[in-house]
Amino acid sequence: PQHNLFVALRDAFPADLDSIAVETDGGLVYSWRDIDRATAMVANLLQSLDIPKSTDGVPPRVAVQVEKSVEAMVLYLATLRAGFVFLPLNTAYQSGEIEYFIGNAAPAVVVCSGKNFSWVSAIAFKAGARHVFTLNDDRTGSLLERAAHHADVQTPAVRGADDLAAILYTSGTTGRSKGAMLSHGNLLSNAVMLKDYWGWQPGDVLIHALPIFHVHGLFVAIHGALLNGSKMLWQGRFDPQKVIADMPRATVFMGVPTLYVRMLAEPSLTQAQAAHMRLFISGSAPLLIETFNQWRERTGHTILERYGMSETIMLTSNPYRADARHQGQSERRGGTVGFPLPGVSVRVRGDDGGELPVGEIGGIQVAGPNVFSGYWQMPEKTQEEFTADGFFKTGDVGRQDERGYVTIVGRSKDLIISGGYNVYPAEIESVLNDMPGVQESAIVGVPHPDFGEAGVAVVTPKPGAQLDGDALMSALKSRLANFKIPKRCFITPELPRNTMGKVQKNLLRDQYKALFA
Ligand code: ATP
Ligand code: MG
Repeated sequence: PQHNLFVALRDAFPADLDSIAVETDGGLVYSWRDIDRATAMVANLLQSLDIPKSTDGVPPRVAVQVEKSVEAMVLYLATLRAGFVFLPLNTAYQSGEIEYFIGNAAPAVVVCSGKNFSWVSAIAFKAGARHVFTLNDDRTGSLLERAAHHADVQTPAVRGADDLAAILYTSGTTGRSKGAMLSHGNLLSNAVMLKDYWGWQPGDVLIHALPIFHVHGLFVAIHGALLNGSKMLWQGRFDPQKVIADMPRATVFMGVPTLYVRMLAEPSLTQAQAAHMRLFISGSAPLLIETFNQWRERTGHTILERYGMSETIMLTSNPYRADARHQGQSERRGGTVGFPLPGVSVRVRGDDGGELPVGEIGGIQVAGPNVFSGYWQMPEKTQEEFTADGFFKTGDVGRQDERGYVTIVGRSKDLIISGGYNVYPAEIESVLNDMPGVQESAIVGVPHPDFGEAGVAVVTPKPGAQLDGDALMSALKSRLANFKIPKRCFITPELPRNTMGKVQKNLLRDQYKALFA
């Protein structure tokens, strides 16, 4: 039977194929028929290429590092349609990184921006790629030139639920990125479940302002809209004013926390402007409770925070409406990531893997039809990260309260063990973030001769505020046990973040590693 994700998405296209599927901020309009034809042409091109039969049993990989465009989305869908494996790469990656990813994934086809062709093609051919195409964000490049010679009808390749659909490299927040192998079944089961859980409805319109090389913008956003036959208002890059201007003709927005912070800085964000919207979703990094509260005050909408990762797509979500599995609770609780999603098993375990009483902090483990099969070419790493009974160890630390809400308190790699005590950075950060004048904070552990590790606080001030690190630490002492108080505090204008808005604690740890040496 046919489990190709593309077929499920296309089956959800509206009956009127001439209605609008995508409208771009550059004034372009694509109908559903346009998307169907364009994906057929690119899929036909991919299938026409001479690519040697795979020796590793995995269909050919198509590695893609291009600027965001509707054609880049078409290339993703066409790759599924052709039965190949899609491998998106962050546009920020430079040659050393691209060399690693392309060397690691051994793609048969590489697609890059025209401006990068010379160095990317050199890396690609050296790594054994057969074809390198270009695709620019203005609909130029050899990929589309070549696809133009192919038919605009195509029969999607037959794929099983377990067949590989994509290799998604993790964001590299805690170390070197790993390629998460996701199947057609992983992606489709999660999308179908989210359509129901988030109450997608006829007439929904999505504002798409995220990058499309990551699980959030590529899978959660695009699958959500396509599976609902919903129009997308497509923004090449996030512009807070443009998103706010689009709100009166949209209903759903998905963003990382920094996007919400940037929109709150715009006076044009008002209750009236957001009145037509149905749902604001946040994820990929923790949403500050302050942002959650400010958004509610300003727009009247309660942001729905959810939690997921490259390896698993979406895992937990605050409820969209009353959740019958949890005594009909419908509250979206700031600071939490909500309930395990339907079909997803979530449990919290101690360091030894043993069960913990409800509400205790431990490692988050998950299982379900959404969970990936393993890391590309890392069998040992894969084995390490799965338990004997088949749960994936997320590497996130958190707890689940008696009402069922899951709270993330940090990553196991960020956990600080100071003088033998476990110190959870998120707990200290949230107390610090509540202090007057504090915008946000990050706590990292660095080597310390007496304590093993010592906490270091890095704090950014609110605009115009003057902060004193020592005073902040003394103030903390009345709120938290002494072993949790960071030994030093630095005030800085900004925290280092990657493109997904995640704070790069590895950089901070590096910066302060010799502090107590
Ligand atoms: P790497 O695995 O390479 O270190 P990464 O974990 O940041 O990078 P992703 O798969 O993009 O790569 O991100 C998943 C992680 O993002 C989760 O494990 C979790 O730590 C974090 N995350 C996602 N959503 C939330 C959220 N709502 N609140 C807090 N953290 C979140
Ligand atoms: Mg990770």
